[in-house]
Amino acid sequence: MATPLSSTPQDPQQDAVAGRESEPDAAPSSSAADGAPPTTRESPASASADDAPAGAPAAAGQPEKLADRLVAHGGERLLDLPAALDQLVHDGYISQRQAEDVLIAPRTKKELTQHPLEVIAAREYENRNRPGSALDLETLTDWLCRISGQPYLRIDPLKINVNAVTEVMSYAFAQRHNILAVEVTDDEVVVASGQPFMYQWENMLTQTLRGRRIRRVVTNPADLNRYMLEFYTMARAVSKAGEQGLEVSNVANFEQMLELGALKSPEANDAHIVNIVDWLLQYAFDQRASDIHIEPRREKGLIRFRIDGVLHHVYELPSAVNAAVTSRLKILGRMDVAEKRRPQDGRVKTKSPDGEEIELRLSTLPTAFGEKMVLRIFDPDVLLRSFGELGLTGRDYDRWQEMVHQPNGIVLVTGPTGSGKTTTLYSTLKQLATSEVNVCTIEDPIEMVEPSFNQMQVQHNIDVSFASGVRALLRQDPDIIMIGEIRDLQTAEMAIQAALTGHLVISTLHTNDAPTAITRLLDLGVPSYMIKATVLGVMAQRLVRTLCPHCKMEDEADLEAWELLTHPFKAKPPSRVYWPKGCLECRDTGYFGRVGIYELLPLSDAVKGIVSSDVDIAQLRRQGMKEGMRTLRLSGAQKVGAGLTTIAEVLRVAPVSDDGSR
Ligand SMILES: [Zn+2]
Repeated sequence: MATPLSSTPQDPQQDAVAGRESEPDAAPSSSAADGAPPTTRESPASASADDAPAGAPAAAGQPEKLADRLVAHGGERLLDLPAALDQLVHDGYISQRQAEDVLIAPRTKKELTQHPLEVIAAREYENRNRPGSALDLETLTDWLCRISGQPYLRIDPLKINVNAVTEVMSYAFAQRHNILAVEVTDDEVVVASGQPFMYQWENMLTQTLRGRRIRRVVTNPADLNRYMLEFYTMARAVSKAGEQGLEVSNVANFEQMLELGALKSPEANDAHIVNIVDWLLQYAFDQRASDIHIEPRREKGLIRFRIDGVLHHVYELPSAVNAAVTSRLKILGRMDVAEKRRPQDGRVKTKSPDGEEIELRLSTLPTAFGEKMVLRIFDPDVLLRSFGELGLTGRDYDRWQEMVHQPNGIVLVTGPTGSGKTTTLYSTLKQLATSEVNVCTIEDPIEMVEPSFNQMQVQHNIDVSFASGVRALLRQDPDIIMIGEIRDLQTAEMAIQAALTGHLVISTLHTNDAPTAITRLLDLGVPSYMIKATVLGVMAQRLVRTLCPHCKMEDEADLEAWELLTHPFKAKPPSRVYWPKGCLECRDTGYFGRVGIYELLPLSDAVKGIVSSDVDIAQLRRQGMKEGMRTLRLSGAQKVGAGLTTIAEVLRVAPVSDDGSR
């Protein structure tokens, strides 16, 4: 058997014919399906395909080889994994043995949704046609172009008019056919796909293009999926901003703004830079981001959003535009624009798409490639939530309420930064702050201004520390005092003094779990008898991402993973769990929002009996559990059982406890 495809891979004529050999099969049924005769198609690709049998007799005979390998798919020809492997062996890129290895390997859930070329690229085989170089996705995409005769296009998101290309077809249509419009002109629409032998969509699309031709290109399938989601998400954010009556006329054409920005060194007050900043903020609010990172790199600037605790790459900007965006934000934050070598802080108040006031806290940091800026978004909706929304329910909720309704004593919330401690404190204080009590806080910084609290900010430059702040607060006849964090003995001593003089003190500590809060206080130098006399209880917490309700998929529980999660305890596995699939709503992460998991340790008499200067943490934990404490992981397991999150997510945020038990 001759191998023309591999012997002359550069010959586009022949390859083009080979690729389109599937067309005669596809045409009748596809036109039957959507009622358009094949002749109405104006795509140059399909037009020449019609000519192919007569026009290229030299290639006849060989092309069936590829056509045979393609899989019939609703009247079309799909390049699936076996077909791709078969053709790659045929073309000399991989060995038969390697192809079989890929085929028999069990495919993960992720791989089942991936393009066959992505699955093959993940193997990191060597390209047998070019020893020493890798058979990566770019090489495979290039190969796909050659066997299909369609040109290659590398998507450059900055060059794409997102509004125009997303208007060509709906997201559902793009997703169903795995295609993405990448350029729109007066007479043609360029459509990228990773399946060059699929044609059915051309007929359907042609009918909506009002005479414009379709020009097909092949693109890297991983890029295709990524940008499909990005472009439609962005277009939706922009149109939402438009519904709010915000100025979006220029925002849609991001490319133009950037081009203008890149031509000359853009000014921070340049209208385009102003638009980019507005768009960026709107997009961040729409995506529920908690932080925006604007980072200069060697060649370009990078924009990343933190959404549900995880950073996402959002955009790349030319360096000059990046610097102008940072300058614009510095102006808004009333920072010194000329000062680029020292870290600075600032604040900006703006409005969310719902018209709510949102505060942004800005900070800059000089880095090797310029100023890096981080914007923290303080959304009052996030900082003040009901206990149900926080995931603090049932018995844990009752026990928490019991602790914080004591007239005096210390209640501690523990966890690392970003574990939701502040939200718990604010939500609790808000509930306690009736007109009969005086709620005072000392914070570093004040994260949200709440009218029903008397809030005070730590100010290191004028010597207002947590400890001296509490001393001052105590002269203000408080009932409840919130101390942002106890991180030294002086603050701990002030908290104890406040508790012993009849006040309820709520504060936070940086510890992994509830029992180790006791050791932390001992390490700071608090005597064990003082802990027993004042501490009412400790609650450790973490935030787990919750499954996106729009796309979560049911599955059987993985018993091994369940065992890992609940060890060393015996917990019955749930009959079904869910896994994160990913959709437009959740930015393809499969997760949407977060909920808390909690570990509550009230200091009962029995627990106090164990507290001593050399307390045994394991014993403390056992006693706590005997009285109903649930570890963070077991609390997470309960949320898994309720279909709210995944085992992997709980394992990610809830660590093994310090002494090895979970
Ligand atoms: Zn989703």
